[in-house]
Amino acid sequence: MDSPAAHDAPESPTTTDHAGLLADAEAELTAINDALHRLDDDSYGRCLSCGELIAESLLEADPLVLSCIACAAAHAPA
Ligand SMILES: [Zn+2]
Repeated sequence: MDSPAAHDAPESPTTTDHAGLLADAEAELTAINDALHRLDDDSYGRCLSCGELIAESLLEADPLVLSCIACAAAHAPA
């Protein structure tokens, strides 16, 4: 039960998170590509839900934001 081998187990908990990190990175890449496409067609910085311009402060905080403050608040989990 209390074997010394347990103290230097080759697999740390962080290694098992790599798949999740990779999925996160891929999702972020997709979001960045989407943002670049929206830059191309001039819809970048507009809310996907209502079409209003997204506040600059919000875009500075998260350049990949897709919704204005009002829509983000409406869609946020209670
Ligand atoms: Zn909106």
